Amino acid sequence: MITVDADAPLALRGSMLLQAGDTTVWPARHGDAGAFSNVRCADGRPAGTLQSGWQVPQGCQQIEWDVRIVDLDVAPTDATVPQSGHDPRHGFWLIAEASALLRRSDQSAAVGVRICASGDCRDSTPLVLPSDHQPPLYAAIGRSPRLVAQHDAMTIGVHGEQPELAGIDEFPHILAETMARWGCEFGIPPGRHKAYDWVWLAPAPDQPPGFYASAGFDTFVSQLVIPEHAEDKTPARFRSIIWTGAAHEAFHSVSGRLAAEWPAWVNESLASYFALESARQRLDAADFAWIDRQYALYPDVPPLLEAQRRYDAGDSSQSQHFYVVGVHFWRTVAGFLDRDGTGQAGLAGLIRQSEGFAHVDLTDPVALIRSIERGGSGELPPGARCLLDAGLCPDSPEGHAE
Ligand SMILES: [Zn+2]
Repeated sequence: MITVDADAPLALRGSMLLQAGDTTVWPARHGDAGAFSNVRCADGRPAGTLQSGWQVPQGCQQIEWDVRIVDLDVAPTDATVPQSGHDPRHGFWLIAEASALLRRSDQSAAVGVRICASGDCRDSTPLVLPSDHQPPLYAAIGRSPRLVAQHDAMTIGVHGEQPELAGIDEFPHILAETMARWGCEFGIPPGRHKAYDWVWLAPAPDQPPGFYASAGFDTFVSQLVIPEHAEDKTPARFRSIIWTGAAHEAFHSVSGRLAAEWPAWVNESLASYFALESARQRLDAADFAWIDRQYALYPDVPPLLEAQRRYDAGDSSQSQHFYVVGVHFWRTVAGFLDRDGTGQAGLAGLIRQSEGFAHVDLTDPVALIRSIERGGSGELPPGARCLLDAGLCPDSPEGHAE
């Protein structure tokens, strides 16, 4: 449980029940042990310090710790790597897993996090730590979000100060509707996904112009620095960037509930494909055309599975291909599955029926193509096969092997 208190807003207290046999605790993913202090048993006995964790006192059943967090007014944090902090002007706390949570072991473990502030508590989505396949936990908690958007069971709270851009107040409402629809299309029980927070952080005074964002399971953190001499069209472009960014991250949050172990290329390419489809439906045609051009496919890009192999071997620059090549791959797949041209519905149906490709080896292009072809009729067009794996192109020597 994470507890914050309005009377001492820069101190955060954590506590965690242990299980028999637990001897050590560690910072959660990518966490720094230096951020934590006074790690102790609930009965008062201090925990012994290890190189990157703590030794649990013998027989201890509950461990507690303290964290000092930043005043976001005084120390603005970059939205791409947000720190846990308190925003006194807008009255909310932002809590980031790496600087707030301890975990029990190196083994994967289910973690429930309850966040309380001044007696107002909420449970975050259950997490499995450590897992590189899931977004980290971020959480926002505040007594009065600046805006609450609701659609069916989906509620989005907006915290902090939104940039002043015409039309941006609509975004949380249409995002709630979009997330509710995706949840429904993917067959996720509505009870498993109800609350999402969108936090706007104030940028640092010297932060270069741009849109900064990152997302956790429950929370989307963003920041916009508009250039001083903006041309006329810039607000529309920023709206396009903000919408596709928010929809991309919200897709991760919804699809994360499928608990599918997707490789990075599947995770990122599906998020970008569905975000662009929502942009097509939600943005003005000219704004959509502009954002769509950012996903232009250039010659000589590696096929997706090759990019994933290079990425796994340590070349992180390959991830850029997941977003671009991946969008073109899923567009072809969606067209194949849905010849009436209604776009994403057929692909969403395939994700639902296959429970997020749960029984498909996603490192095997032939297995993935077979699972897609079962949802349509005939053969997946050669263009899509080539974007997946060069060996499956018609002009490849191995192209006719299958
Ligand atoms: Zn992403």
